[in-house]
Amino acid sequence: MGAGLTYGQLDEASTRLARAIVASGIGIGDRVAYQVDKSVATVVLHLALLRCGAIQLPLNPSYADAEVDALLADAEPSLVIRSPGRSPLGGPWRLLTMDAMGHGSLRDIMSEGSDELPAVTADDGAALLYTSGTTGRPKGALLSHGNLAANAQTLVDAWRFTPSDVLLHILPLFHTHGLFVAAHCVLTSGASMVLLPTFDIDEILAALPSCSVVMGVPTHYTRLLTDERFTAAACARVRLFVSGSAPMTQATHAEFTARTGAEILERYGMTETSMLASNPLAGPRRPGTVGPPLPGVSIRTVDEADRPVMAGQVGDVQVRGPNVFSGYWRRPELADESFTTDGWFRTGDLGRFDDDGYLELVGRSKDLVITGGLNVYPTDVESVLDSLPGVVESAVVGLPDPDFGERVVAVVVANPEIRLEPEVLREAARSRLAGYQVPKEIVVMKSLPRNVMGKVEKAALRNELVERES
Ligand code: AMP
Repeated sequence: MGAGLTYGQLDEASTRLARAIVASGIGIGDRVAYQVDKSVATVVLHLALLRCGAIQLPLNPSYADAEVDALLADAEPSLVIRSPGRSPLGGPWRLLTMDAMGHGSLRDIMSEGSDELPAVTADDGAALLYTSGTTGRPKGALLSHGNLAANAQTLVDAWRFTPSDVLLHILPLFHTHGLFVAAHCVLTSGASMVLLPTFDIDEILAALPSCSVVMGVPTHYTRLLTDERFTAAACARVRLFVSGSAPMTQATHAEFTARTGAEILERYGMTETSMLASNPLAGPRRPGTVGPPLPGVSIRTVDEADRPVMAGQVGDVQVRGPNVFSGYWRRPELADESFTTDGWFRTGDLGRFDDDGYLELVGRSKDLVITGGLNVYPTDVESVLDSLPGVVESAVVGLPDPDFGERVVAVVVANPEIRLEPEVLREAARSRLAGYQVPKEIVVMKSLPRNVMGKVEKAALRNELVERES
């Protein structure tokens, strides 16, 4: 763990850096990209860019230069900041290193000058986040200061953050989850955070006794559960565990509660909208759901004609609220497919509300399997498979089929001590699923392909399965 900063120091450092960035010629609406390792300095830079009205592009440090090039070509930044030691990245922008020392670093611009900060308004662009898992031309979601402020204040209220909270920060700082959920809850409420650069179980166990809130993706929690030092005593001070970015299995919820006595609070959001729904802080949390819409956020589930469907029926999830972005960067042609004429954003998720208004997500609409004309929602099948003895987790996809159009195929990950027989699993699933939902084939794999936020990469999985067949 590195050195800490007080709020006074954070304020002073980010103001000084913001003034220097403005003096270097960056104005409101100019893009500034940064591809830097996670550290307290990243938080300073993030705040400095918010203060000077620039539109910031936080980039995943593990992106290769070719990926970064594609995003920079789209965003056209005036300034690019990278961690030291990376290869120089040529382009019509000024390139600086994050290093506090040496030529061409952020420190250099500090000595170049210091200007007054501009007046930034709620409608000004604050961040350009490229959506994860895109194929083809990158799509940058432009979030305004108003969007970010609305999201942060809603979460602080919903999860009752106070200055005495200490958040264990184990998420990346280039994604909405780590930046606009975790870090902004802390900064908006005057709480503290312990910033860990990577997911390291030893460091987490050392920090946990002083923390009151943990936010993570489901994989973080399953990894913690593999360590027997992770006990109720180890997290005695933690009042709130939040999970999101990917679905958490009912089994993980149950195992977590059995081990720690705590119930994980699952919430739902996305890059374009920040947070949308959350299980309640006080009140029943329902595993397998993401809770009701957050205050101020409207969520509806609709049919193909954008007409709301009844509770219990699956529909496309559409959302509205002060947290929802206004469109993709320089992609006006996407406006019609992204928003309805009356302003609802089409999330691309499928879900159903229960009678109490809790939302259950059943998969991305592009992952819906249509077999013989019938819809199979992946999570309906996955939750049955996950509950079978010996299954750790599963993923269901549709593969091309000459008879059915698509056929349901499941990949399951087995508990290492148990040998899973696909036919036995199919038989067991048959008693709990309709015939057309039962996977035609079950493939046992060691692990599922996941991205950095713990999401199963279904497109990659489909390709792998198709390749195996050919
Ligand atoms: P991203 O833009 O990378 O944050 O991804 C957003 C997507 O992650 C959403 O549209 C959902 O498909 C998925 N997602 C987020 N939170 C959850 C959750 N709690 N359960 C299931 N899927 C989730």
